[in-house]
Amino acid sequence: MTGIPGVGKTTLLSKIVEIIKSHGKSVNVVSFGTMMFEIAKENGLKDRDELRKLSVTEQQNLQKIVAEKIAALNDQIVIIDTHAFINSPEGYYPGLPEHVLKIIKPTNFVSVSAKSEEIYNRRMKDDTRNRDKITLINIKKELEYQSGMISACVVITGSPVRHILNNEGKVDEAVDKVISSIGL
Ligand code: ATP
Ligand code: MG
Repeated sequence: MTGIPGVGKTTLLSKIVEIIKSHGKSVNVVSFGTMMFEIAKENGLKDRDELRKLSVTEQQNLQKIVAEKIAALNDQIVIIDTHAFINSPEGYYPGLPEHVLKIIKPTNFVSVSAKSEEIYNRRMKDDTRNRDKITLINIKKELEYQSGMISACVVITGSPVRHILNNEGKVDEAVDKVISSIGL
């Protein structure tokens, strides 16, 4: 599951997990960024939001280690909460580059989107994160990059993508769409 920061991925996934479990399936939701941060912490990184500021080479190494850990999971369903691109000082950088996709071999992609104004408000309300400067123009640009990056993932893997709109106050509707899109 990909989508730009603040679009609501983690919110949707917390509900999706409960539904999948109630269907008697084993499910593991992993946050790619959190797993990268756990490894980076061992090497002295203090803040999760500093991850995207590491050199691209360092981020690539971390991505590879995390991808291998995810590929080794044995649950019936593994859902990865991640970003299709990262806003790093060297430029937009893929969260799911080809070398990572080849390791994790995703069967389905879900691309979560929302109105740019709603994403703006959600980011402004969330003071637990140390976010980059937030503007409506940047959010619109990020939504465009998100759609380009996810199209590349679909072509590289040959797996389908479902685009889900997470409308304001309509979490349950978005959750239902995700559940049906992955055939549960
Ligand atoms: P990040 O990539 O930074 O981890 P995220 O995509 O996981 O972001 P969330 O943390 O799930 O985003 O959501 C961001 C904020 O938006 C939260 O405060 C959440 O409660 C709120 N939110 C999510 N979905 C909706 C919705 N449909 N309506 C209203 N608020 C929502
Ligand atoms: Mg999240």
